[in-house]
Order: sequence, then C-alpha cells, then structure tokens
Amino acid sequence: LKEKNARSLWHPMAHPADSLNNPPTIVTGAEGVRIRDVDGHEVVDGVGGLWNVNLGFSCQPVKDAIARQLDVLPYYSTFRGTTNDVIIELSEVLREFYEPDGLTRAFYTSGGSDSVETALRLARQYHKVRGEAGRTKFLSLKKGYHGTHMGGASVNGNANFRTQYEPLLPGCYHIPAPYTYRNPFNETDPEKLSALCLQALEDEIAFQGAGTIAAMIMEPILGAGGVIVPHESFMPGVREICTKHGILLIADEVITAFGRSGSWTGSRHWGVQPDLMCTAKAITNGYFPFGAVMIAEHVAEVFEKDTSGAAAIGHGYTYSGHPVGAAAALACVAETLRLNVKDNAAARGAELYAGLQALQGKYEAIGDVRGGEGLMTAMELASDRGSKAPIDKQTIGTVQEVAYQNGAMVRVSGPNIILSPPLVLTSEDVQTILTALDAGFAAAAG
Ligand code: PMP
Repeated sequence: LKEKNARSLWHPMAHPADSLNNPPTIVTGAEGVRIRDVDGHEVVDGVGGLWNVNLGFSCQPVKDAIARQLDVLPYYSTFRGTTNDVIIELSEVLREFYEPDGLTRAFYTSGGSDSVETALRLARQYHKVRGEAGRTKFLSLKKGYHGTHMGGASVNGNANFRTQYEPLLPGCYHIPAPYTYRNPFNETDPEKLSALCLQALEDEIAFQGAGTIAAMIMEPILGAGGVIVPHESFMPGVREICTKHGILLIADEVITAFGRSGSWTGSRHWGVQPDLMCTAKAITNGYFPFGAVMIAEHVAEVFEKDTSGAAAIGHGYTYSGHPVGAAAALACVAETLRLNVKDNAAARGAELYAGLQALQGKYEAIGDVRGGEGLMTAMELASDRGSKAPIDKQTIGTVQEVAYQNGAMVRVSGPNIILSPPLVLTSEDVQTILTALDAGFAAAAG
C-alpha cells in the first residue's frame, strides 16, 4: 500500500513531504473514537477525522439511515425544479435546530468550501436584488480559514492557502484577528485586543466605504488558523458594526456548528445571530459529503419578494439536496441531540485544556495553549518562549510521531498542534491523549 500510495496518489498540495521515506499514515479501520492503521496501531483520534467526526466512527443509526435511503431514493437534487421528501424533512429539523440563531432556510451543498462559496455569492446577489449592486467587497479575519475554492481562498487569512493561487477575487480585505499571542498591537489583554480589532474593522469599512461592502465572514472561534478564541465582546461587536453599515454577517460554522464549542453553534456561544451560516462537517459526521448554508428569514424574503429578476437562479450543485446526505444528516442531528454532545464537549474540553496547561508548565516548547471552549484546543510551539521564535519542523514532528506511538493521533498545522477529537470522548480518552503528548514532548526535549 505504501508503494502504491507513493506511485498513484497525488499528494503534493496537502502533503508536500509525501514519499516512500515519509509516507502519510494509512488508515484502514475505525471504531468509536479510535482509528487503526495498516501497521496495526490503534490510537485515539485526537483530530476527530478533520473536526467532523463528532459522534465517533460507529454510529449505527446513521449507517442504517443511509442503507435505507439507498434502497428508496439514492439520488435526486434540489437544483432546478425538483426537490425530495428527505431533504424537506431535514430542512424542517434544521429550521428548529437553528431557530435560536434566527436562521430559517437551508441551501444544500457537498461540503464546507461549497457552503462558503454559496454564502459569498448569495451575499452579493442579496445586495443586487435590493438595488445596491455596488456592495461587492468582502471582509474577513487574518488567520481565518474558509476552505479552498477561489472565493474561500480570497477571504482566507492564512498566507499558505492564498499565495500559490493568486490572483484571487478582488475586493477582499483582512482585519487583524483577536489573537493575543501575536498581534500587530502587541496587546495581550483579550478585552482590549478585541476593542482594537473592532476599531480596525471600523477603520477598514470607513476606508473602503460602507456602501461597497457585501459581507463580513468569520469563524466564531477560529479553527485551522490555530484555535483562536476571541474575547466574548468580539463577535457581538462585529455584529453591531455590520448591522450599522448594512453589511451581511456570515458565520463560518463549518467547525463550530453542532456542539463542538460546547454550545450548539458558535454564534449562539457568543449570543449573536448571523445573517448567513456556513455548515458542513459534523452535519453528517463524515458519513457523507454534505453541507448547508443556513439563511435568516429577512435575507430569504428579499429574494422571494423580488420582481426585478435579479434573484434568478445562477447557483446550485448537482448534489444540492442529496437524499442520502439528507438521510445521514437527519440521523446525525438526531443522535447529536439525543447524546447532548455539546455538554460532553464542554466537560471533556475543560479537562483537555487544563491538561495541556499542565504540560505547558512542564515543557518549554509550549509557547501558548488555546481553547477552553469545548473540544477545540491548540498549542503553539516556540523554540524560545521569550522571543516566541517558531519551533523547527523536526521538533514538532517528533512530538506528533511519538504521541502517535503512544496512543494518540494529533494534528500539526504550522507551529500548532491542534486537538479536535470526537465529542463523545471519555475522560479516559482525554488522559490517553495527554499521556501520549507528554511522551511526545519528553522525546522532543531529548
Ligand atoms: N470553513 C471552515 C471554517 C473550515 O474549517 C473548513 C474545513 N476545515 C472549510 C470551511 C472547508 O470545508 P471543506 O474542507 O469541507 O470544503
């Protein structure tokens, strides 16, 4: 398998180091919160698939629902004049789930990047339908991650996801993220930093002209950029500014929806109602590629009341509203609610966060520990705590490899080790991850 992988798969975009000498882990099985590799190792999946396997890998009701749906209606879309019974049922369930977020309508996609692309397009079209065609620009946060389509890459705030693909969409501007460990203001107090970032947002809007901006997109807690948890004043502040200037607020909740932050959605976590919400990942727990953009009633109404023709169809996917995805999502949402995974995420997340802080006390290489809100946690490694000089790749690689040998898969992203395990994790599993990381850091420290 290792030879065939090197010969026939094309990994460079995602795994530059892939070769026979440094092959990616070949996963051959999974059960509960554990994965098994081709060499027979069985480890706790500290990555939770890719932030998406909230319910673990053995969710029987979802498997049954998919199997049933395959027999009844394996495919029909919601694009161009058709819909289907399962997707209608799912939409009713989502309408109830998202009611506290003020979101009543769903548009379906095949994943997170599609959801972001849809939200960006929808935002521009919304303003056109309202006769404000000049509102075309997008604002987002530095360090934010919004998928890999050209629109998403354009609002992405991480250089490594942007620079190779330029020129990207014109009219996208990035605001400093409330990232206390490193920020242009040298501000370490979260509340003061939040105020400075909000002021930067106001300044950018004034500079661009509010009437030129379609939407602001943000993750309520930034994930792939290294788990940046804003101060509680930040997202409500963004909401207020967007409302004041007629700018739509898109919450990118591809990671945070369905309980990961310890609340059912990240927006709800901060007491904010966005205009649009991008979801994917845990909506089907990895069982089917699927996503949804949730839309506030006041946005949907603008399209439905349009008489100008500007709301005409120009967007949709072959797999929009896939019935098998809908069946998987229906079962996933039911399980998510039945198991009340948000509470376990909050409780296990607190244990994991405390454990990582204890490791920081022990190992000089851990410059910053972030998280504390559900099961989204990261450690930023530094070769020197004082100067915060970045860690070398070999050291962080050793931590990851030795942690794996000791029972836990963890994710490395730049200088960060990111932990986003399934939300059905037990305290014992948390300890397994911490013990494995302890071994990893001990080995790296030599
Ligand atoms: N937005 C966010 C916040 C994400 O974390 C991701 C995926 N990690 C995406 C969008 C893109 O989702 P996908 O990989 O399913 O296209």
